[in-house]
Amino acid sequence: MGRGFMLRCPRCGVGNLMKGYIKVAETCSHCGLDLSAQRADDAPPYFTIIIVGHVIVPLMWAWERFYSPPMLLQGIVWLPTIAILTLLLLPRVKGATVGLQWAMKMHGFGQNPET
Ligand SMILES: [Zn+2]
Repeated sequence: MGRGFMLRCPRCGVGNLMKGYIKVAETCSHCGLDLSAQRADDAPPYFTIIIVGHVIVPLMWAWERFYSPPMLLQGIVWLPTIAILTLLLLPRVKGATVGLQWAMKMHGFGQNPET
């Protein structure tokens, strides 16, 4: 999961896991691990929403509770923060999900004796 989170191949930790922003590469560029069978589906966005929510909501609550800033200021601060955090985390969470799938031999990884 750690290698996947760092967007590296779950087997060798060297090759790129992603081809583009969030599309998983067909094979590892370093060790040749076939990544085409993996399917993370809706899990990465779901986990990303949970993580971002658990980071942002307590901060929003504390800011409102102790300083009560104007709603416009909160919108100016929180909306870009949420968008940036989500966009940064989504490919990494997807990489971690693919890494977990590979480690658990899920979604076709177990069919190849080389894995
Ligand atoms: Zn590799």
